[in-house]
Amino acid sequence: MDVYGLVGNPVGHSVSPPMQTAGFTERGIDATYVTFEPTEAEIEQAIDGANALGIAGLNVTIPFKQDAFEIVEPDPLAARIGAVNTVVFGDGSPQGYNTDAAGVTRSFAHHDVTIDNREAVVVGAGGAGRAAAFALADAGASVHIANRTAERAAGLADEVDGATAGGLDSLADTVPSADLLVNATSVGMEEDATPLPAELLHAELAVLDAVYTPRETRLLRDADAAGATPIQGLWMLLFQGVESFERWTDVDAPIDAMHAALLDALE
Ligand code: NAP
Repeated sequence: MDVYGLVGNPVGHSVSPPMQTAGFTERGIDATYVTFEPTEAEIEQAIDGANALGIAGLNVTIPFKQDAFEIVEPDPLAARIGAVNTVVFGDGSPQGYNTDAAGVTRSFAHHDVTIDNREAVVVGAGGAGRAAAFALADAGASVHIANRTAERAAGLADEVDGATAGGLDSLADTVPSADLLVNATSVGMEEDATPLPAELLHAELAVLDAVYTPRETRLLRDADAAGATPIQGLWMLLFQGVESFERWTDVDAPIDAMHAALLDALE
């Protein structure tokens, strides 16, 4: 039996175990998926130990995505993002990937939203914002990054092909002409709040909210009311997991089964 796992702290509420287990079961893969909760001081030992023990692959979550990037061999996209959320163990050194990026692009693709040659606005410049900005630019969008701390957005825009940046006030100039919007801030998770005024949303916009608890955020309700296409963070969560599954197994992930397991787990 292959062993996969999630490394984070805390990991108690993670929905990755039921999602990945459903994927393995549906594809008849003899594997198990367990959670590990090392401390900050133990993370390097934990990843090296997993490798030594023959664990097949790991997901890495908060607060260890940047640590993992330093410990394993990141692929070029993960290297630009500066964070690894998926590790594949094999014969050589452990390989690191950032599947949050595919989580963004595959969420739009699944909803028949074109990215190439479109204008995208990413709100947020933390881990999820970095993944979204690089993913959308690589997929052919011109990207504007708006962040509460404008300097952080500017720093990220310097790294992303053709990107522009500003504070949250720059949303007023960029969202009305945009085709895609990603909320990559945590706004909307703790309270019924949104990072941008509802008046900026419009019917030509597809809105992906990275926040997935609650599933229906205020931003997505506003998007729906404006006639925009709302895309729940659940999809990003699903597709980052789908991409991890495919990196580990080289098998097409059973998207419907993993989606059903996620819905169950988030109820
Ligand atoms: P992070 O690295 O801590 O970044 C947080 C971002 O939110 C920063 O841009 C920060 O702005 C901004 N922010 C925080 N509070 C704010 C406020 N009150 N007003 C405006 N902006 C605020 O976190 P992260 O890892 O990128 O995660 C961000 C969100 O994405 C979380 O809700 C996380 O659960 C979600 N996420 C979802 C998925 C998925 O698969 N669906 C994957 C990854 C992350 P400053 O730079 O100004 O502090």
